Amino acid sequence: MDSTMQRTPLLISSLLRYGTLVHADQKVITWTGEGSRSITYRQVGEQAGQLAHALRSLGVTGDQRVGTFMWNNAEHLITYLAVPSMGAVLHALNIRLFPPQIIYVANHADDRVVIVDNTLAKPFAGLLPHLPRVQHVIVNGPIDAETHAALQDPAHVESVHDWTELLAGQPTAYDWPLDLDEDSASSMCYTSGTTGNPKGVAYSHRSNYLHAVTAALALGARQDDRLLVVVPLFHANAWGFPYLAMAAGASLVMPDRFLQAAPLAAMMEQEKVTFGAGVPTIWNDLLRHLDTSPADLSACRGLVVGGSAAPPALMKAFQTKHDVTIIHAWGMTEMSPIGTVATPPAHLEVGSDDYWRYAASQGRLVVGVEGRLVGPDDEVAPWDGESVGELQVRGPWITGSYYANGAESEVERMEMESKFQDGWLRTGDVGTLTPDGFLVLTDRAKDVIKSGGEWISSVDLENAIMAHPNVQEASVVGVPDERWGERPLASVVLRPSATAGVAEIREWLATQLPKWMLPERWAVIDEVPKTSVGKFDKKVLRKQYAAGELEVQSLD
Ligand code: AMP
Repeated sequence: MDSTMQRTPLLISSLLRYGTLVHADQKVITWTGEGSRSITYRQVGEQAGQLAHALRSLGVTGDQRVGTFMWNNAEHLITYLAVPSMGAVLHALNIRLFPPQIIYVANHADDRVVIVDNTLAKPFAGLLPHLPRVQHVIVNGPIDAETHAALQDPAHVESVHDWTELLAGQPTAYDWPLDLDEDSASSMCYTSGTTGNPKGVAYSHRSNYLHAVTAALALGARQDDRLLVVVPLFHANAWGFPYLAMAAGASLVMPDRFLQAAPLAAMMEQEKVTFGAGVPTIWNDLLRHLDTSPADLSACRGLVVGGSAAPPALMKAFQTKHDVTIIHAWGMTEMSPIGTVATPPAHLEVGSDDYWRYAASQGRLVVGVEGRLVGPDDEVAPWDGESVGELQVRGPWITGSYYANGAESEVERMEMESKFQDGWLRTGDVGTLTPDGFLVLTDRAKDVIKSGGEWISSVDLENAIMAHPNVQEASVVGVPDERWGERPLASVVLRPSATAGVAEIREWLATQLPKWMLPERWAVIDEVPKTSVGKFDKKVLRKQYAAGELEVQSLD
């Protein structure tokens, strides 16, 4: 029997039209350093219309790619909405990648027009000679004549435009096409992989729409929220925030380039931020800052933390010191990205041991995401909270393949295909699932430390070490060991006020962990190396250890 329902394609333009019409007075606030500037969703809709007309006038048609090289600000949001809504494909470039990777990614995606923040125009001008397909550059904000000339210099660049001038005079209404295929690409994002070339994922209108609605539900985003989006719009589809804000009618606070703890605290206080999203490092820095420079965070009910494991010590400190709930979430660029959100079952008393066990887990699978654990012998492991396996996932916003443009080598192609098994995406994350669908990750498959016959979770060790009051950050990697095959090396950043050294920290750790898990190798470092999106970069630590660059103390 056929249904009698209307068949309406799920398009980004539906979210844009809904948010800017029904929630027209909601705001996008962009931090300017001293204070902020603000526009309404109505104005977002109008400028999105103007931008679409302007891009059309530059010749953008069909599914051509429009790149961005921008911080989180109102113009980036407008681009996020306008480009897919007109039928083109948005590609937010990760400004923090190494130049050769940015060049690879922009060329691989075939970006034709790139919109650049004025504060990033100089570094972008250095890349532009290597991006022969880019015909037009649009600069958001004033630049000096020299930078303008540098952008205009490569022969393949037809024109360089100022955002404001380009949009001025364009009609604010745009006839967003309604006949787009909901399965066509709306945007793309590349993984921030630290080895090999980043891999591209092309999201569809449908996947983004369904992800936005589910993410709004899972995170409980509301119309009276003011969402601080610290996660860059170029990282993992911005965790869905631009689109979920439209769906929920929530206002947005955009930090632009002011990502240090002091300005974040200031904008949270001044703009009465209710909810934020970012990687653990950001909130860790904020927490330390608040210890010495208090700020009023009373409007803030929660911070979503993902991208790497949220240390329980961080979660507890925010809860007890600032009454702010850290909501742990897990996902991947390949998953749009949200897969799990840790909302403990409602009957548990906040602060009880059971509550923390759930809150500190990676979270419960959200509706739409199916998961299975696959053990070392390819057997599917049960959801019993104990059996360990690699998590595989499938669902409507999980990619079925990586974006290939035909220029990949055979090896790259095989590597891309190897990430899928019978229609499931292999996440490379290892852990357990509870019978009620909560995921506890014990490690990345490649970071598990294989010591003798036992597996040691580097994440468990890091969390245990970071719970010591004198430790600011700690990263653990497996290093070769003659006797055991591999043993953990703990690299620790001590707090400036630290009174204990690593020997005392190890003694303290011995009271909580079995002896075989205790690292014998310790290094005190100034900072844990981070990837382009702020995660611990274990590859760098392994290299430094192998090259003898770390001052390692042996403690037994
Ligand atoms: P990305 O695509 O950059 O977001 O990276 C995805 C990877 O980050 C995942 O496969 C995990 O290894 C890691 N990750 C993301 N969220 C978490 C989390 N909450 N806990 C532990 N690892 C995480």
